[in-house]
Amino acid sequence: MAVLKIIKEGDPTLRKISRPVEEITPRIIRLLDDMRDTLHSADGIGLAAVQVGVLRRVVIVEVEPGNLIELINPVIVAREGEQHDLEGCLSVPGKIGITDRPMTVTVRATDRDGNEFEVTGSELAARCFCHELDHLDGILYSDKAQMLSEEELEEFTRSREEE
Ligand code: ZN
Repeated sequence: MAVLKIIKEGDPTLRKISRPVEEITPRIIRLLDDMRDTLHSADGIGLAAVQVGVLRRVVIVEVEPGNLIELINPVIVAREGEQHDLEGCLSVPGKIGITDRPMTVTVRATDRDGNEFEVTGSELAARCFCHELDHLDGILYSDKAQMLSEEELEEFTRSREEE
């Protein structure tokens, strides 16, 4: 297992479309394990394979510590409601923005054993699923976010606390 290098905004690979996984080979298992180590090392909550330079439709999400969800060939099959909240990205370091996302999404994917499953997430989990799945299509959250300065972030956080 290994901690991989996370590529950053400006690297053209981040703009490419990732290919579906046709067969779960030892290489894919190794990729999932390395992505987990990389995510933990970066203290993140989600990572797409393209962020470590591998153009495969593979995503991991860990919104609740200890509950790591591995998604192979994920697709969003249902979305409900809307939310307007903060988002950041390990490939866009030092920045934060506000995006519009569905409040709840259901994702269908395959696990490392080849079984299809569905997972539903709300709030932060829904934002994270949408964000990571966008990566598979070469989309960065900063394309659609209202990026915030430090002062605007403070103001936003303050207004949330007052609610
Ligand atoms: Zn990201």
